[in-house]
Amino acid sequence: MIDLRSDTITKPSQLMRDMMAQAVVGDDVYREDPTINELEQYAAQMVGKEAALFVTSGTQGNQAAILTHCRSGQEAIMDEDAHVFVYEGAAISAFAGVQSKTLHHHRGQMSLDEIEEAIRADDVHYPETGLIWLENTHNRSGGSVLPIDHLREVHQLAQKHHIPVHMDGARLFNASIASNTSLHEITQYTDSVQFCLSKGLGAPVGSILAGDQNFIDKARKKRKMLGGGLRQAGVLAAPGLLALKSNIQRLADDHHHAKRLAEAINTYTDLSVNHTVETNIIVADTNHSKWSAPQWVKEMADRGVAIIQYKPKALRFTTHLDVSSDDIEMVIEKLKECSRKVAE
Ligand SMILES: *Cc1c(COP(=O)(O)O)cnc(C)c1O
Repeated sequence: MIDLRSDTITKPSQLMRDMMAQAVVGDDVYREDPTINELEQYAAQMVGKEAALFVTSGTQGNQAAILTHCRSGQEAIMDEDAHVFVYEGAAISAFAGVQSKTLHHHRGQMSLDEIEEAIRADDVHYPETGLIWLENTHNRSGGSVLPIDHLREVHQLAQKHHIPVHMDGARLFNASIASNTSLHEITQYTDSVQFCLSKGLGAPVGSILAGDQNFIDKARKKRKMLGGGLRQAGVLAAPGLLALKSNIQRLADDHHHAKRLAEAINTYTDLSVNHTVETNIIVADTNHSKWSAPQWVKEMADRGVAIIQYKPKALRFTTHLDVSSDDIEMVIEKLKECSRKVAE
């Protein structure tokens, strides 16, 4: 099976497994796990922040960030398709007691005017605005990259109002590689950033939350409250370190594969990819197709290609570490086969 459902399905390589087996470990709640300590230092320095924290998942990193930046009764400004709003089980309200103020967006970018309008005035009726939330790359827009000018402008606005900015950078490295912009350039405009080790980078488990020392000290306690204080976690940090050292530059291959695939979808099938493919996610809509989305999923699965239905009338294809150029050519063959069957 060629699995294009998500980049979360990547499996640790043999080298990663060897690193896990050899990892030097200790009790990380006592801060005595040398491999975790090394990963956290390495990751912090990579994204130009003072400190970093290993968390079990992107969701845990995002939630620890909210709990650290905000108090119960505050409000966070985010776009209406943000992962934290759509896919995190309302943890923001359930655990942090924070209300979401969702705005429209274009490819992940909220308008500056609308952000400014959404920032609450000091009034006895209103919640306080505690956080501005950005997602980069933007998952539900098909992996779009937030332009650096936009990041700068949002940050300036946030500073003017003394509000912190968090970046959900689950796919931060995809953003950096695709836009040829250094990590430091991107993260200078955020107070905190979360990124995943376990998606396109290929590690089996984990994310990083990074920020200044004071922020991370507090977030460490929130992580403990969320059940994320781990003991001999070096076995999980070792593959994360390897992922950061070896698997970033190659994301360009995934982006290249996604562009090639999107072009083929538009050329050979009655599906339409209506967005610019900037990174590794393709959303293809079935509006003009003779087949419904579930039919496409089934026909492709019958031919050894796994994709997912993403919206009622959309499919998602995601490229990643475990999909080779040959696999992409094979998927294109299968798409052509399906198209012939559609035309029958
Ligand atoms: C995957 C993802 C997360 C959450 O990561 P998990 O490790 O699955 O909890 C957060 N934000 C975005 C944008 C994601 O794509």
